[in-house]
Amino acid sequence: MRGSREVDVPSLVEGARTGSPRAVARLISLVENADPALPQIMAALAPQTGQAWIIGLTGSPGVGKSTTTTMLVHAFRQQGKRVGVLAVDPSSPFSGGALLGDRIRMVEHALDPEVYVRSMASRGHLGGLSGATPQALRVLDGAGCEVILVETVGVGQSEIEIAGMADTTVVLLAPGMGDGVQAAKAGILEVGDVFVVNKSDRDGADATVREIRHMISLGDRTEPGVWRPPVLKTIADRAEGCDEVMEALVKHREAGQASGALQARRVTRAEREIEAIVLTTLRARIGDVSAGASLSAVAAQVASSEIDPYAAAQRILAELA
Ligand code: GDP
Repeated sequence: MRGSREVDVPSLVEGARTGSPRAVARLISLVENADPALPQIMAALAPQTGQAWIIGLTGSPGVGKSTTTTMLVHAFRQQGKRVGVLAVDPSSPFSGGALLGDRIRMVEHALDPEVYVRSMASRGHLGGLSGATPQALRVLDGAGCEVILVETVGVGQSEIEIAGMADTTVVLLAPGMGDGVQAAKAGILEVGDVFVVNKSDRDGADATVREIRHMISLGDRTEPGVWRPPVLKTIADRAEGCDEVMEALVKHREAGQASGALQARRVTRAEREIEAIVLTTLRARIGDVSAGASLSAVAAQVASSEIDPYAAAQRILAELA
């Protein structure tokens, strides 16, 4: 197992700080595998984190997330920024599986030393992706990435959760896919800070823009001072509309800094992150108790109606305390 190899934390963290892609890759693998050295790694990384701007990209498969990621990487590279790309697959337990591997190859900047591209799955991570993703973001942040693009593959609740980990979330849609209605159903309208109707070379782009604008206007974001998400059009494979998207991203960031919304979001994110670590730790300790036969012993008593499950849980909690 990769995770069981001896981990030289100081040299890995120093490697990440100086921008070694190998060190970054190894640290993210350790995150994926929930390596026992993680607490030590995160403690060592902490002083060099907090600078990255995390941008989430979400949307149905085929809508153009990967193409848009590539477009934005180009734009940020032109500004001389060091960029991280994290492709997360909430549905797959495997890292670098066929799906993610193909996507990564699409991000043509993989060979640019100032761009870190990594895919991630939750293999072995008790906290699942919601536990692993913030730690992978910390690694990229600690490696000096000024911008981190988090792209989620697939749809569903976990995708929205991961999108919610970003400072700025971009929701991608495409014309004529009934995307507006789907987005509303999936709860994606609430998490979007910038909406992008990609593939606007196709029929129906303006109708989709109107539909999304209308749906947003029905939401509760009309008070003064509250960020009103713009709805933009792009043709990502020709980088058309890129400047407008970049401008909207910067505006959202500046508005968040000015209003305190960005800081509030980061605090919420840290709360979830801490909670995930606490739960993961507790689960592991319940596992230890169960290895000590306490759990199966009280479970047998519950199964034979000798005690009730709440009383049994109290005994386990007492043992954990
Ligand atoms: P993802 O699954 O959301 O990441 O979507 P991809 O980025 O892989 O794009 C899916 C397909 O749509 C690819 O074949 C892209 O080349 C194509 N595509 C991306 N953007 C556009 C666009 O603006 N217009 C058109 N016509 N095709 C696009």
